Amino acid sequence: MNLIKTSVIGSYPIDIDTIKHVKAYFKQKIVSWDNYIKSAVKDMLNSGIDIISDGQTRDPFVNIFTRRLKGCRIRDRTEIIDKIEYDGPITVEDQKFIKTFIPKNKHLIGLITGPYTLTNSCVNLFYNNDKELSFDFAKALNQEAKILQKYVDLIGIDEPFFSMGIPDYGKELINTIIKGVSCPVRLHVCGNVKNVIPELLEMPVDILSHEFKALPMLFDTFNQYDVKKDICLGSVRSDKSDIESVDEIVNHIKKGIDIFGDRIKQIAPDCGQKMLQKSVAFLKLKNLVKAGEIINGR
Ligand SMILES: [Zn+2]
Repeated sequence: MNLIKTSVIGSYPIDIDTIKHVKAYFKQKIVSWDNYIKSAVKDMLNSGIDIISDGQTRDPFVNIFTRRLKGCRIRDRTEIIDKIEYDGPITVEDQKFIKTFIPKNKHLIGLITGPYTLTNSCVNLFYNNDKELSFDFAKALNQEAKILQKYVDLIGIDEPFFSMGIPDYGKELINTIIKGVSCPVRLHVCGNVKNVIPELLEMPVDILSHEFKALPMLFDTFNQYDVKKDICLGSVRSDKSDIESVDEIVNHIKKGIDIFGDRIKQIAPDCGQKMLQKSVAFLKLKNLVKAGEIINGR
């Protein structure tokens, strides 16, 4: 059996130096974001996580994309005011930067917020319907994915809105993003996915990632299906500060193995960790890594 890898889902908390930003604002200087990215990535490295991300520190996971795509205007929420078009790489520079200081044995996941989630998070002032908007987002994200794959080991598509129901064109949306992409793809859908499992199992991705720690009832629901996809098992909560003990995480992973067997290829937090304190997020990752080592028999 291949060893289970430890991973993050995406976002990670950082401590923003507000004074530095205010000073820079008055001097009309741009603060480099590199140290924030480094601070998030260093925590992931120091905890021992195998598959790390850029921590999505720049912006909330919707704005990271809508700030750089044509047709979007960021207000309280992003407003769609024109046709969505790709306007050049969005997260690629950050991945290149991370590659300069991480060890070669670490894997990097490139994160893409999915078109359905972007559509549902924005105020549509331009398109006739959400389907057209979603497909234009998907086409733009495909251009990003094709460049991104050169710098990462796998791509993660984040579609939390799928948990509320997947439209009949959901599979086609994911197909549109990954056209021409040859690295492995992980689809993360947090929330209660019990009503959309058949659609998820049909998705053209390699790994499904769900919130099994906060929603352990998903074990029983998934158990009713013949799961032929690999699984990234949510194993520590992202919405609670209590730090799960190593034993608790080990037992959770064993429960997952009872149901999914060696389909479990990754263990991770339930979701992005941005809502947690930095020190808490770090300790959760550290215990996740220790639990992974026990499961892998190291
Ligand atoms: Zn999530």
